[in-house]
Formats: sequence, C-alpha cells, structure tokens
Amino acid sequence: MGTPGTTDGPTIFALSSAPGRAGVAVFRVSGPMTRNVVQAVCGAVPKPRVAALKTMRDPTGGGVIDRGLVIWFPGPASFTGEDMAEFHCHGGRAVVLAMRSALADCEACQPAEAGDFARRAFQNGKMDLTQAEGLADLIDAETEAQRLQALKQADGALFQKVESWRDDLIGAMALVEAAIDFSDEPDVATDAVSHADERVRGLVDDIGSVLSDQNRGEILRDGFRVVLVGPPNAGKSSLLNALARRDAAIVSEEPGTTRDLIEVRLDLGGVPIILTDTAGLRATESAVEKEGIRRSTESAKRADLALWLDDPEQPFGTWPSDLDQLALPRDAIRRVLSKGDLLSVAQRAAAPPDAILVSAKSGEGLEVLISRIVARTAAVCDADTPVYITQARHREHLSAALEYLHGFGQSGLDVELRAEELRRAAFELGRLTGRVDVEDVLDQVFGRFCIGK
Ligand code: GDP
Repeated sequence: MGTPGTTDGPTIFALSSAPGRAGVAVFRVSGPMTRNVVQAVCGAVPKPRVAALKTMRDPTGGGVIDRGLVIWFPGPASFTGEDMAEFHCHGGRAVVLAMRSALADCEACQPAEAGDFARRAFQNGKMDLTQAEGLADLIDAETEAQRLQALKQADGALFQKVESWRDDLIGAMALVEAAIDFSDEPDVATDAVSHADERVRGLVDDIGSVLSDQNRGEILRDGFRVVLVGPPNAGKSSLLNALARRDAAIVSEEPGTTRDLIEVRLDLGGVPIILTDTAGLRATESAVEKEGIRRSTESAKRADLALWLDDPEQPFGTWPSDLDQLALPRDAIRRVLSKGDLLSVAQRAAAPPDAILVSAKSGEGLEVLISRIVARTAAVCDADTPVYITQARHREHLSAALEYLHGFGQSGLDVELRAEELRRAAFELGRLTGRVDVEDVLDQVFGRFCIGK
C-alpha cells in the first residue's frame, strides 16, 4: 500500500452512476486538478464535504449545463485519498453528454478506466487488496447472503485477520533473529526459538482452521451449483423453467433435446443458486448426444447438489444404475418424481415415501423442493461460523503460508533456514493483502470493477 494523500498521476473523471436515462447522474473526479475542475464548472469551490446547489457550466463556452449538487472532498479524507469531487446532475442523456464533455475540456482531466478510483484508493492506503475485492463483490452481489459476505470483506474482516497473523509472524521472526544473534549463548538462543515455536504453532492452528471452511465463502460468492440429472424426457427442462419462472431451456417431447448444459441463476432464500439442466442420461449411438451426456456427468461431478428426476410415465425404478456410475457431487436429492399432475391416486400411493412429487405444469411440490434445496445450502450460509476466504487467490496464499510455517516446524533444520521459512510465510501474507509485490494481480482485481468505481 502507498502513502495516504499521494496526489500524483492525472486527474480522472467518470460517470459513476449507471449509464442510461435516470433521475440523477453522478460524476466523480479525482486527482490533483480536482479543485480547478470544480472552480471551472461551478465558478466557486463549496465548503468541504457539504452538498451545495450550484449551476454547472461548460468551462470553455460558459453555457449553463444544469443545476445540481456538488460535493468537494479535499484529500486525504476522501475515497481515493486524493482531492475528489462529485457532481450530481439530472440523468438525461443530453445532460450526461454535456457534463462529460465539460469535464473532458478541463485542464489535465481525462476519462477514468474501469476500477481506477478503487485502484487509487488501494495505492493511497485507503484499503488493502482484500477490501478492494470485497468492494467489487459488493457491487456484483445479487443476493442477500452475497451482500453480507462482501460487506464483511469490504469492511476488512479478512484484512484484519491477516494483519494479526502477520504481527505474530513478525514477533516470531524477531525471536528467531535473536536466536541467530545470540548463537554463542545456547540457553538464550534455545529459549528464543522455543518461544518462536509456540507462536508459530498458534498461527498454524489458526490459519489451518480458517482454511478448513469447506470452501463456503467461495461457494457463496460464485453460486451454489445444483444440477438436474435423470433420463431423457423426465421433465428436467420443464422443471428448470418452472423454478426459473421463465423459458430458459427448450422443452420438447423428443427425447435427447438438451444436448448442451443450460444454466439459470436463482435467488433462493438469499443464496445464489446456479441451476443446470443436463442432457438426459441413456445409452445412445449419437455422437452429439454422447457429448451431451459426458458434459452432464462432468457437471454433476462439479455440482454442490444433484437432483435426480424420475419420470413416472416409466415404471418407478430403483436407484438408476447410470447414476451409480456418476461421480456424484457431495450431496444429492435422489428421488424427485416429475409430472405429478399425470399420476393417478393409486400411482401416488405407490410412490416411494422419500420421493418429492413435483409438477412443472401445476406447480405442485415446487415449494417443497425449493425448501429442500435451501436446507442443503444452509451449511454454506451459516452466519454463526465466520468465513474469511472468498476466492481461490486467498486460499492459495494462505495454503502457501501454512506450508512455510510447517517447514519452520521441522526442528532438524538449521535456524537460518527456519528463519527463511518465516520470511516466505510473511511474504505470502503480504501478497494476500497487497502489501508486497502485487503488480501482477492488480489489473485482474481492479479490471473487475465498472468505470466510475
Ligand atoms: P427433459 O428431457 O428431462 O428435459 O424433459 P422435458 O422438460 O423436455 O419434458 C419432456 C416432456 O414431458 C414434454 O412433453 C413436457 O411437456 C412433459 N412434461 C414435463 N414436465 C411435465 C409436468 O409436470 N406435467 C406434464 N403433464 N408434462 C410434463
């Protein structure tokens, strides 16, 4: 992280509200020339952090563009840490175009790229890399559970955890350095190393327990994958459409229609669900259908939950042998009977007691099925157990740090080599928060933002 208040680099501007016709549009400006921009557009600079109603003018021709609110945020107490301003004008297309061209006409002012404001905030020490990622997730959050998780990360939950580990690690490193310095006083050196050992054991336990979270944060961030599997014509596409309440999959009477995977995103009880329809599983000579079936089985393997659909028009079978050959995901709801509306009273009575009877046509059983799916996701969004890791990047650095700490624990090693293991662990934690050497990941992290953030 850089130094707060750093104000080099060009002054940037962007429309920070969504594009298109709207009641209000918000433009943001950040950088050393911001004060001049406010002066040029509004004729005066308002009091810091107080919304002021101003007439906004084109700085070259002087024509009035609009009247709206202007807020001046002198750095370093601003989002980016630099001088910043916001112009709240009316959100009509012509107003937005005129404002954009007025700002572009200001001296040394240029349009921002995606994520530029957040990148400056990171470079000026306003947030670490994990908080920036949390902010991007918050903007992308589609469900309540995703919003809460992203907010926690943006507020620094992971950052604070990693910083406390880093402090402990630096303490352990100081002890090992002392042991090296006092190597001619064996008692002092042994004592220092055993204290370092104790600290590192605590770190190994703590990092290990954060890592053993069953990937809950990643699942919640990326979506809980539910896959619909079963024989052709069982009603999988119809069920997906009924659950998605729209026609996302092709429904056809001809068996073998769904040859590719169709995904819809659903919000069930605040949890993001990615529901995938798959090709029906059956013996086939068709190369295209075979490929569809291969993709189905692959998708079932990666899923968090599989729903097996049985076609009641076929006699109720036992657990299908096809499915036994599938490498099933962690969890499966094994017996969903489709087309419930076609069943006679006798057929209903003969249905296996554990079966969930659904009908895409009448809507019967859909609520029960949804509640069963939601129950299976409960472990993922159990708010009582904190989750810190939300993406693979976090897991990689923490796993690497843990490995170096295990390396330190090998007491046979020379003390200098053990000290090196601690340095490497600290480097991995530094990469996680962006303290050290992260140029290579910056574009990846900040490119995910929209323009204006
Ligand atoms: P898939 O091959 O498993 O995806 O099956 P489809 O969803 O394409 O459905 C196969 C056939 O069953 C179509 O003719 C659907 O209209 C019919 N079908 C699906 N669900 C229901 C249902 O709940 N009730 C009735 N009566 N027919 C259904």
